[in-house]
Amino acid sequence: MSRTSASGGGAPSRRTITAQLFPSEATTPWSDLSSKQRRAVLRQEESLYTWKISRSTDAIYASKCESTVYVTPSLDPHPCSECDALYSIHKFQVAINRPMPDETNMKYVPKAYRCPELGEIYLKYKGVRELVEKDDGRSPWLKFAQRVINGDFKSETLLGMVEALVIKSDRLRKGKGLQNMKYSSTFTNFCNLLASTSTRAYQTFRRHFGGQVMSNIRFVVCPLSFL
Ligand SMILES: [Zn+2]
Repeated sequence: MSRTSASGGGAPSRRTITAQLFPSEATTPWSDLSSKQRRAVLRQEESLYTWKISRSTDAIYASKCESTVYVTPSLDPHPCSECDALYSIHKFQVAINRPMPDETNMKYVPKAYRCPELGEIYLKYKGVRELVEKDDGRSPWLKFAQRVINGDFKSETLLGMVEALVIKSDRLRKGKGLQNMKYSSTFTNFCNLLASTSTRAYQTFRRHFGGQVMSNIRFVVCPLSFL
């Protein structure tokens, strides 16, 4: 599922469908077909899919899926016979065993074979495809992003630290210095506390994540010093 942004597979090739629908255009390159002809081919292709990809349920179904299977309550439901039969289709085997192209080569996937909505998001935000699809959506970075959006991470220090790291790397990438960088107040308090505990520890931390220069640190009475 992560190798393609198409919504299904197993249909005859677009060239074959074009030849069936528009015999006079049988050898016309895809890009030279009119938008009306291309739309007709894509609709026909979708109607001929042998399998359909459901991203919302993270599953692939046979187009002729029986929808219902009968099992005893103690057993996990098995796929219906139509879905199960997909494994015996050569085209399906080829599709599921095709190696994953890497992020840099993915942009060469012909536009016609991409889901336009997903494709637009992927094109607009470089790296999003890899983030979303890496390890079939199980990458810790995707989980992190989802939990930030869900508000699961309550630590403003952690988020301030990540934010500082991102802003710092952005600035360095653009050849800018780190002067006048704004930090969240929670992150600044954390930096003050860390620097008050150990200036060397803070300087090491700052090299990696950013933070106020030492001259801007407000030294605080560190709770750790009472231990
Ligand atoms: Zn089924």
